[in-house]
Amino acid sequence: MQFHHNGYVSADPRVQPAAGTGINRPEELPEFMDVLIVGTGPAGTITAAQLSQFPDVHTRIIDRRPHRLEIGQADGIQSRTVETFQAFNFAERITAEAYVIKETTFWNPDPAKPEQIIRTDRTADDPTGVSEFPHLVVNQARVIDYFAEYALNSPARITPDYGWEFKELSAEPAHEYPAKVTLINCADGADSLERVVRAKYVVGADGARSQVRRSIGAKLSGDKANHAWGVMDTLALTDFPDVRTKCAIHSTAGSILLIPREGGQLFRLYVDLGEVPENDEGKVRETPLEEIIERAKAILNPYSLEVKDVVWHSVYEVGHRLADRFDDVPLEKIDSQNPRVFIVGDACHTLCKSRARDECVHAGWLQPGMENWSCAFWASTSAIAADLQRRT
Ligand SMILES: Cc1cc2nc3c(=O)[nH]c(=O)nc-3n(C[C@H](O)[C@H](O)[C@H](O)COP(=O)(O)OP(=O)(O)OC[C@H]3O[C@@H](n4cnc5c(N)ncnc54)[C@H](O)[C@@H]3O)c2cc1C
Repeated sequence: MQFHHNGYVSADPRVQPAAGTGINRPEELPEFMDVLIVGTGPAGTITAAQLSQFPDVHTRIIDRRPHRLEIGQADGIQSRTVETFQAFNFAERITAEAYVIKETTFWNPDPAKPEQIIRTDRTADDPTGVSEFPHLVVNQARVIDYFAEYALNSPARITPDYGWEFKELSAEPAHEYPAKVTLINCADGADSLERVVRAKYVVGADGARSQVRRSIGAKLSGDKANHAWGVMDTLALTDFPDVRTKCAIHSTAGSILLIPREGGQLFRLYVDLGEVPENDEGKVRETPLEEIIERAKAILNPYSLEVKDVVWHSVYEVGHRLADRFDDVPLEKIDSQNPRVFIVGDACHTLCKSRARDECVHAGWLQPGMENWSCAFWASTSAIAADLQRRT
C-alpha cells in the first residue's frame, strides 16, 4: 500500500477507492469467478488480501464456517511475520493489543532434588536481532480480522462468502473457466444442496485435511507418527514466578511450553503428551482436560497451579508433512502444463515436531507455522495474479 502517492488524501488512507470488480461486487457467490479461494484461515485470508490489490481479477473466498473465526490456534507470531503485517499496514495496531515476547526462561530438574524444577537459564527472545519488530502472541482470529479488513478496504473489496463447503473439483481444460467446482451450501438453516461454480484458478487453503489437495491427487508425506500436545488457555492462581514470561520447562514428569496471553490474565500451556502410536486412531484426542491439568501440576512441582478457568483447550496432534506437489500439474507435465489449482498453508505443509521440540529449547517454537503464513502464499498468489493480469 502506498499512502498519498496520488496527492493529498483527507479521508482514511487505509480505505482505497473501489475499482474494477470492487464496484458493484455481487453479494451472492456468482457462478463464474477468476479465482476461488477455499478456506478463510491464515493462508486463504492472506491470499485474498494480496489479490484484493488486483481489481481486474474477480476473487471469491469461501469457508464452510458460518461466520468469521472467533478463537484461533496459531497465536505465536514471529517477528519476521510482523514485518509482513507492516507491509499490510497493521503491524502497529496489532502489536498494541498483543503480548510482546521479550525473553525466554528455561526450567529443568534441580540436580539436588530432581523431582522439582529450577530456573536454569534466561535468554533474550531474539539475541540475534533478526528484525526491528517484536515477537508477538495474539489470537489468530485477530490476525485474520486485520487481513480481512485490508481485503475489504482494497480496490477489489473482497469479503468472504461463509457457509460454503468445497466438495470436489474437476478440470475441463477447453472451458474458459476450466475448474468446475462442486460446493455444498452449509450456511445456518441452508438446504445443504450442491451447487456448481466455475473458476479460472482455485487456491486450496483448506487446512491440513484439505479436500482440494485430495481432489488434485496430491499427497502429504513425512512423519509416520504424530506428536501430541495438550493445549489450554488458562486462568489460574500460581506461585510459579515466570508465569508472565515465555518458558520452556522440562521436568522428570514431562515438558511444558508456557506462553503468556495478550490481555494480561491468561497463559497458554502446551503440555507434552508424547509420541502418538500409529494405531492410536485418534484416541489421544480424547485425553480429558483434567488429565492435562494434572500433568501440568506434576511438571510444575514444587510450584502450585490452581486452575480457575480454561477458556479454550484442545489436543493438538502434529507431524511434519509436506505435499508431493503444490498444484494440479503432474510432475511429468511440469514443463508443458500451466497450473490451475494451488494448495497453500497447512494443505501443503504441516508443522515439524522435531523443530517444535528444538525451538522449545531455544526460542521461536512457532516458526514453522509462520513460514506457512508467509512463504508458499507469496509464491502462488503472485503467479496467479501475474497470469490473470496478462489475461484480462
Ligand atoms: C493448538 C494449535 C496451536 C498452534 N499454534 C500455532 C502458533 O502459535 N503459530 C503458528 O504459526 N501456527 C500454529 N499452529 C498451526 C496453525 O494453526 C496452522 O499452521 C494454520 O492455522 C494453518 O492455516 P491455514 O489457513 O493453512 O489452515 P486453517 O487455519 O486450518 O484454515 C483452513 C480453513 O479452511 C476451512 N475449510 C476446511 N475445509 C473446508 C472445505 N471443505 N470447504 C470450505 N472450507 C473449508 C476451515 O473452516 C478453515 O477456516 C497451531 C495449530 C494448533 C492446532
